Amino acid sequence: NVEASIPEPQREAWTKHQSSGFKDKDGFEAEVVRHVETTLARSMFNCDEYAAYSATSLAFRDRLILEWNRTQQRQTYADSKRVYYLSLEFLMGRALDNAMLNIGQKDLAKAGLADLGFRIEDIIQQEHDAGLGNGGLGRLAACFLDSLASLNYPAWGYGLRYRYGIFKQEIIDGYQVEVPDYWLDFNPWEFPRHDVTVDVQFYGSVRKSTDESGKTIAHWEGGEAVKATAYDVPIPGYATPSTNNLRLWSSKAASGEFDFQKFNNGDYESSVADQQRAETISAVLYPNDNLDRGKELRLKQQYFWVAASLYDIVRRFKKSKRPWREFPEQVAIQLNDTHPTLAIVELQRILLDLEGLEWDEAWNIVTNTFGYTNHTVLPEALEKWSVGLFQHLLPRHLQIIYDINLFFLQTVERNFPGDRDLLRRVSIIEESQPKMVRMAFLAIVGSHKVNGVAELHSDLIKTTIFKDFVAIFGPDKFTNVTNGITPRRWLHQANPRLSDLVASKTGGYGFLTDLTLLNKIEQYAADKEFRKEWAEIKLANKVRLAKHIKTSTGVTVNPTSLFDVQVKRIHEYKRQQLNIFGVIHRYLTLKALLPEERKKQLPRVSIFGGKAAPGYWMAKQIIHLINNVGAVINNDPEIGDLLKVVFLEDYNVSKAEIIVPASDISEHISTAGTEASGTSNMKFVLNGGLIIGTCDGANIEITREIGENNIFLFGNLAEDVEDLRHSHTYGSHTIDPDLAKVFEAIESGTFGETQDFSGMITAVRDHGDFYLVSDDFHSYIETHALVDEAYRNQDEWITKCITSVSRMGFFSSDRCINEYAEGIWNIEPLPISKDGDGLPTG
Ligand code: PLP
Repeated sequence: NVEASIPEPQREAWTKHQSSGFKDKDGFEAEVVRHVETTLARSMFNCDEYAAYSATSLAFRDRLILEWNRTQQRQTYADSKRVYYLSLEFLMGRALDNAMLNIGQKDLAKAGLADLGFRIEDIIQQEHDAGLGNGGLGRLAACFLDSLASLNYPAWGYGLRYRYGIFKQEIIDGYQVEVPDYWLDFNPWEFPRHDVTVDVQFYGSVRKSTDESGKTIAHWEGGEAVKATAYDVPIPGYATPSTNNLRLWSSKAASGEFDFQKFNNGDYESSVADQQRAETISAVLYPNDNLDRGKELRLKQQYFWVAASLYDIVRRFKKSKRPWREFPEQVAIQLNDTHPTLAIVELQRILLDLEGLEWDEAWNIVTNTFGYTNHTVLPEALEKWSVGLFQHLLPRHLQIIYDINLFFLQTVERNFPGDRDLLRRVSIIEESQPKMVRMAFLAIVGSHKVNGVAELHSDLIKTTIFKDFVAIFGPDKFTNVTNGITPRRWLHQANPRLSDLVASKTGGYGFLTDLTLLNKIEQYAADKEFRKEWAEIKLANKVRLAKHIKTSTGVTVNPTSLFDVQVKRIHEYKRQQLNIFGVIHRYLTLKALLPEERKKQLPRVSIFGGKAAPGYWMAKQIIHLINNVGAVINNDPEIGDLLKVVFLEDYNVSKAEIIVPASDISEHISTAGTEASGTSNMKFVLNGGLIIGTCDGANIEITREIGENNIFLFGNLAEDVEDLRHSHTYGSHTIDPDLAKVFEAIESGTFGETQDFSGMITAVRDHGDFYLVSDDFHSYIETHALVDEAYRNQDEWITKCITSVSRMGFFSSDRCINEYAEGIWNIEPLPISKDGDGLPTG
């Protein structure tokens, strides 16, 4: 018993003064005022909205941390299995609104802030997004944390505390300009743990020695050490006291702040430079989405984070005094993509070199601990590191990788004798110039389960990039867990009125913890009154977005137009170029109509948003074209409200919360077979918008759930993509005639500088049209015509929307996390009692 370890008199003082956090509005106000006056050293006379936000957040943080303590105590006491989610990205967005809603005290805070002279909406707006991710992969990790806590699973996230998150995007003269995102000025949501540090080693060399029994022992010596310091972020579950931990590591030079030798020798500048070099490791998030660049600093980030996290996990396990073979019964580690694959090698190194286990025993523990989630089949996104870089940075790890590979290839050779080509294909070491370590292969060999993130994607990895591994390990090692999203943030928080309307018809907010209960609204799909309320909410959301569009771009849009949205990272495979070519086609068609015909057309607003990786030239040209097209169309008096085109700058989570609920139709139009899942497609449908999409990623399962009549599918199928690509002739590919007219308009200068856009055109016309823009163009345009037609019948349209929402239960990240827990991690929920000390009673 934890308490019994504290002597009686001291225990009394501790329990007497134990904080319990605020309980009511009055208590909340007292906490806010206390934080304004003492923590922030301000007063009622100079408390602006930012100070009020800070103090409100601190009041909630204090409350969360009490629950956090209880949760951690309970988990330690129960000694239950924990899952550790290793992700280089956590795209969290804002925390305050989410914290208030999850612990059920938003109304209280609203009233309290009003008493103090503030509107809660203005206070929420003050918060800077935590943008520690690029896109879908990082946002998935954030949704998973919410579900893990809400479902009471003992779980920790491990990541890096980047000083600069994803850059802020500005649009200047139609071009993307990147501005650093220094978000840590003041972050009330993190707890620095200066007592939780780990020294992480780099470089150096390996010496081998032999012990008394004749066993060879490896010693990794020399090199340099960098200190990792933990920063903890509490993750509140919804409607449960369970509060999990996200531990982010920050880097500093090890052994004191300065190299005192250098300092004393008068070499002050170089000692500061060493310090800065160490801090560089966790300084910046790499801004590439679905692209591997192989930079040395990135590998350093990966090892730094993995080594600190494993040290922490192993330290926690060792406290239980269990034998090593029980490690996989206590610990599950999930690798979010290949970024943390070094954890496999690091655990093997710890067990072998530091704990003295035999290879087979250690490897058995390792492979039963890890699960690997694959997020892409795009070759340019599959991580590889040169053997030379490994040798230099992590010499001992390279030896272990070679041994893992040797033993693996020996078993392959035994089972497939004489198949030299198979050995070459599956080797973890690619025999290229230079030789490369294939991280995905290492992740497969070192894990007990490998999963894709949507059915089509999971099938594709088994038949393409990992086909040989299915033959070697058997099909059971490979599985699917279709992605999901948290309905707390993506319905209740982003779209409160819709959430309230659903609650009024389903008997309360139970759907927020069991999303399948949404099916109760299907019976209202054709109910006149219900449809009316539904339409009013959608319109209000569109009015809110229209205001945002006006303030951020200056363009006035009519909220009764059809809002057509494509917001996501800019990437050729996601095909924003197809969308903007389609917009140009619409414009040319409108221009060619007689005025009385034109008036009959359905008004549309095409809304784009998303960041391009700073080094991705083509993606940046796509942004430029969208802005130039907007500048022409939005100022064409013949067109007026019939067509507007806007590019919203700096798309991030908090903007998504405004954009997603306001969409009528959203575009998920990747070349079939390229988008692993997509998650924004789920968010848009859950918020009562329909989608136009290809048969790709989770679009397929969305269609299965909501019904073919409620989605606008178009384009070629994944199985035909390869053949189509082969049929394209380089240099003179015959393209769709409507698309050719679009190209003519661009090349004649209708949208400004023609040379800026020639790359986008030649990619389709002269360079093989890898993404099948021309092959899918006709089908895309025709399907948009069907969208127009369907939207004209508002009653039927809204019926489609209601029906779709009612069938979205499957896409909750709660379902998804339960599948991981049962099929991969083998962990059980551990609920925390509402009151008390978190320890079991009796
Ligand atoms: N970026 C942000 C800010 C998001 O909120 C999301 C998902 O909602 C994504 C990217 C991923 O979008 P998609 O699934 O369309 O790639």
